[in-house]
Amino acid sequence: MAHSFLAHAQAELAAIEEAGLRKREREILGPQGGRIRYRGQDGAERSAINLCANNYLGLANHPEVAEAARAALESHGYGMASVRFICGTQDLHRQLEQRIARYLGKDDAILFAACFDANGALFETLLGPEDAVISDSLNHASIIDGVRLSKAKRYRYASGDMDALEAELKTAVDDGSRFRLIVTDGVFSMDGHVAPLKAIADLAERYGALVAVDDCHATGHLGEKGRGTPTLTGAGEGVHIITGTLGKTLGGAMGGFIAAAQPIIDLLRQRARPYLFSNSLAPALAGGAIKAIDIAEAADDRRETLARHARRFRTGMTAAGFTLVPGDTPIIPVMLGEAELAQRLAAALDERGVFVAGFFYPVVPKGKARIRTQMSAALSDADIDEAITAFTDAGRDLGIIGRI
Ligand SMILES: *Cc1c(COP(=O)(O)O)cnc(C)c1O
Repeated sequence: MAHSFLAHAQAELAAIEEAGLRKREREILGPQGGRIRYRGQDGAERSAINLCANNYLGLANHPEVAEAARAALESHGYGMASVRFICGTQDLHRQLEQRIARYLGKDDAILFAACFDANGALFETLLGPEDAVISDSLNHASIIDGVRLSKAKRYRYASGDMDALEAELKTAVDDGSRFRLIVTDGVFSMDGHVAPLKAIADLAERYGALVAVDDCHATGHLGEKGRGTPTLTGAGEGVHIITGTLGKTLGGAMGGFIAAAQPIIDLLRQRARPYLFSNSLAPALAGGAIKAIDIAEAADDRRETLARHARRFRTGMTAAGFTLVPGDTPIIPVMLGEAELAQRLAAALDERGVFVAGFFYPVVPKGKARIRTQMSAALSDADIDEAITAFTDAGRDLGIIGRI
């Protein structure tokens, strides 16, 4: 039995390899940053400009964040060895929850080990079989899985299509749903598009629905003071529930959260399974995250640098002849079509000192393979220029853009 299963697993792996879909991990040999040292696929050590971290404001190795984490480690120890409700809640956890809530303009927040868990908790806890979830077709895998866990009736609308959303809302009302919850990514991570939250909030109002936004790719760096897509789009209070991560802009370590009105957070604390049955966030992570939020809230300078890099990279890459997904977030996908080409360009950039990752099926649709670049305030203007030069050079070599 075990033997035949191993043979089966090996055959699956061979098929993944055959299709050019195998993901390989390169080992980074130091902290995350605008430039990283790593071991290349040939085993040699090299250094590169990093264009694929979710380190938008460059806080992943900020000295004050690291210092706050060290201080929390000293004062509150390494681990809690408990879930929150038994003996795993420290003053630090409550301070972080209240800090998140204050930052995002909600009553309270609840922590999870990851946003993946926050999204796993949300729907199953709040909704029953009488209710409806209306979900954007490009929502993150964790939302899709979270929705699957709930007994609510599911509706799906074509990404960002407000006519389609309205049609689904009508159907959900006609089907006699008790409560309706619209859920969307704030920023779609593969394309960098921002969800039309103002229009979504207006439709929600009209059809009596709640709005939940997963703002993992926005909290800290988009919108006023980095408060995310609700302020960026003007939807504001029309977004009732925000899920987010501490693993991207807000320090990049780990942890997730949900921020919302008090009764919603209180109910999640009583019933959310990934909260009740999973360990409390490590004190050092809580201490570091509080500092990361303090820095992010005040970091208009870093947000301006980030936006400037995005404009510079878009302009240079477009002039070089690459096809980019249009938009104005720091996520800038370079479209390549087939998975193999994305892999080859990534390898050619690796040789030229630019660290990127090819994205292909099943992460994006077949034939829509891409290299997703992400800007960071940890990068310099010179880094951006060097990256454009490397792309241009590699792109010509591979015949992706015209030779001169
Ligand atoms: C990264 C991400 C997550 C997962 O967050 P973790 O805290 O790493 O689990 C969830 N949703 C979206 C939209 C994301 O981009």
